[in-house]
Amino acid sequence: MIPLPLVIPETTRIAKTDFAKVFRNPATGQHSLHAAAFFDEGDMICSFTAQQTYSTPSYLTLQTGLHQHIALSPDCLQYTNHSCDPNVFFDTDKMELIALRSIQPDDELVFFYPSTEWQMASPFSCNCGSEKCLGTITGAAALKQNQLNAYRLTSFILLQIKNR
Ligand SMILES: [Zn+2]
Repeated sequence: MIPLPLVIPETTRIAKTDFAKVFRNPATGQHSLHAAAFFDEGDMICSFTAQQTYSTPSYLTLQTGLHQHIALSPDCLQYTNHSCDPNVFFDTDKMELIALRSIQPDDELVFFYPSTEWQMASPFSCNCGSEKCLGTITGAAALKQNQLNAYRLTSFILLQIKNR
C-alpha cells in the first residue's frame, strides 16, 4: 500500500522559503507558518531584520523596547501564530528565530506572544489547546512570575519584569 502524502487539510500553501512555508486556511482566512525542514532544540531557524520600526504595536510587530515595535523581514515570519506551548522563540537581541525543541517538517511554528509583548495591541482569547493554556493573552505585564518562569523571554521583557 502506498502511504498517502502528508498534507495539511483545507489549507493552501502560499509561500515557501528554505526554512518555512506559509499556509492559508480558506475557511477562516488564517495564515500559519510551518517548518520546511527538521530542526533540533537550540537550532537557529533563520535570522531576521527589522523591516520597519514603529512607536506603537500592531498584530504584525514584535516589541523590542517600551515604544519600539518592529515589523520582521523575511515577511513570512509575520504568520508565526501564538501558542502557550511554543516551539520557537524570537531572540530580538541576536535577531534570530530559535527552535525551543525538536521540530519536524510541516510542524506549525508557534511562539509565546508574551515572550516579546509587554502589553498587546490586540488581546485575545487563546484556544491553542495546550494543557498549559493561559486563556486570555494580553502580554507579559498581565502574567504572574510563576507563569512567566516557564518561558524563554526576551531581554526587553526580563527588564520590564525586573522594573515592575
Ligand atoms: Zn493557549
